Amino acid sequence: MKQRLKIKVADNAGFCFGVKRAINLAEEAADKKRKVCTLGPIIHNPQEVERLEKKKVEILTDINKIKSGFIILRTHGIPFDLHKKLIKNKNINIIDATCPFVKRAQVIMERLSTDIKSKDKIVIIVGERVHPEVIALMSYVNSGKCVVIENVTEAKNFKDSGDLNIVSQTTQTPENFESIVKILKKQHKVKVYNTICKATLDRQKSAEKLAKSVDLMIVIGGRNSGNTTRLAQICSTNTKTHHIETVESIKEEWFKDIGSVGLTAGASTPDWIIEGIKKKVVGIRCKTYS
Ligand code: SF4
Repeated sequence: MKQRLKIKVADNAGFCFGVKRAINLAEEAADKKRKVCTLGPIIHNPQEVERLEKKKVEILTDINKIKSGFIILRTHGIPFDLHKKLIKNKNINIIDATCPFVKRAQVIMERLSTDIKSKDKIVIIVGERVHPEVIALMSYVNSGKCVVIENVTEAKNFKDSGDLNIVSQTTQTPENFESIVKILKKQHKVKVYNTICKATLDRQKSAEKLAKSVDLMIVIGGRNSGNTTRLAQICSTNTKTHHIETVESIKEEWFKDIGSVGLTAGASTPDWIIEGIKKKVVGIRCKTYS
């Protein structure tokens, strides 16, 4: 007998405050017919970046190629020296779309490296060492040592001696952050700066809750998006999960013999992609289960 398929979208899914703000700033500038560019993709969602490119928001990979016009700084920040170099060029107007939560982490990093009481301590960033946010955060330490720790294995292998200041990448899971802090605390005196942003936590909690109550989760967002990938990891520990970027990846056979499907999306996934995928799933339900 055919089952009725229930579809539910997570309570917190899609664009967060920081990404919404960045996209609005980019669109506003483009609508004024300004020459606008971003240094690297403004957010980690290839489809939304492509939509902005159609509005003439150009992506640059080399800072030397920009001579004039408006440059939008991406949500997760750019390295300190690069920012200074852009400020010095009077022909360039900077639109700073760095998320305020990332800015807060940058300010903490800068303070830790200049504060007399902190400057002899090692700064630990709990995060992904290749992520642009982490690379930018590291650049704010202008004296002393800064080390990135990604996971508990690296924390266990950390052999340096001395006191530590520990800062988190904004999109870390609290579990990974807390486990690493716990390990480091055994050997070091630590001061902890938890800079994980609430939008990330809200999305993770909602995704986990929904994943526990459905037969299948579809996690929507860029493969290059750290927070979407973590949502997929969280969901997959609770139910069968597919991480997709676009509606084209959906396969009808996923919905065979299941009663419920949950949808969630990373903080850089726009509503138009989520809506398109929801519509497609509803269509499959009508075709297959009605
Ligand atoms: S995920 Fe958090 S830190 Fe990142 S842009 Fe969104 S609100 Fe800002």
